[in-house]
Amino acid sequence: MYRRFKPTNSKDIRSEPDENRKEPTHGSYGGLLFDKRWRNKREEILQKDNCICRICKSSEELQVHHRQYHYLKAEKKFKFPWDYPDQLLITLCEKCHQKGHNKYKVPIIYL
Ligand SMILES: [Zn+2]
Ligand SMILES: [Zn+2]
Repeated sequence: MYRRFKPTNSKDIRSEPDENRKEPTHGSYGGLLFDKRWRNKREEILQKDNCICRICKSSEELQVHHRQYHYLKAEKKFKFPWDYPDQLLITLCEKCHQKGHNKYKVPIIYL
């Protein structure tokens, strides 16, 4: 039987469309946010920001926000969440994070 080169059932979460087909959000990272590499990176950013929200200084329910999303044209996928430079990651509390996402669209940079 003729064998196709393209693996059709290889699963890569980064190339899967978000369930609502919007721009990639933290939500579309899905399981990646439980990855140890992300947990380490997140911890690093929290430390850098003294474990407080950069907007309201709260120390509750902190999350790390991406100020840009990087799409790698050659690979046709987004970077892993932990592959971003520190200056593009900021600590926000859950409320400010939500507000920010409702108000602004995270720019996608095509690399
Ligand atoms: Zn806040
Ligand atoms: Zn965010």
